Amino acid sequence: MQSKNHSGAAPYAVEKPDTEWQRELTPEQYRVLRAHGTERAGTSPLNSEHRAGMFRCAGCGQPLFNSGSKFDSGTGWPSFFAPLAGAVGTSNDGALGMQRTEVHCSACRGHLGHVFPDGPKPTGERYCMNGAALNFEPAAAPPAEKKV
Ligand SMILES: [Zn+2]
Repeated sequence: MQSKNHSGAAPYAVEKPDTEWQRELTPEQYRVLRAHGTERAGTSPLNSEHRAGMFRCAGCGQPLFNSGSKFDSGTGWPSFFAPLAGAVGTSNDGALGMQRTEVHCSACRGHLGHVFPDGPKPTGERYCMNGAALNFEPAAAPPAEKKV
């Protein structure tokens, strides 16, 4: 059964007027999160982010992906095999004549990217995310390494 688009019956945790999003987000973040845009492949600095930490929604700050689920998909977009429990929602996206599954933040409904069934184990899923929709927060820094 296909779920209907959100209609306002059960409000998302974070709801803001469009003008407010426009003011708070960078133009690229706004284009991705609020207007279903897709950043150019290979442009996000998060592609090469390999530190331990948390990837949060750039719109509302909700934790979405742990660094432990990140993998290098070779697509040019930050990719993960699993989101945190309850962090994202999905909807059917028939744009461009393809059936794709759109992924959004469960708190603010900001558009994050798409999920495809060709990911690595253990889930077999590939969450193909726009780096512009994410903010990375490194885990607490380990004690400074001793200089030799
Ligand atoms: Zn959000």
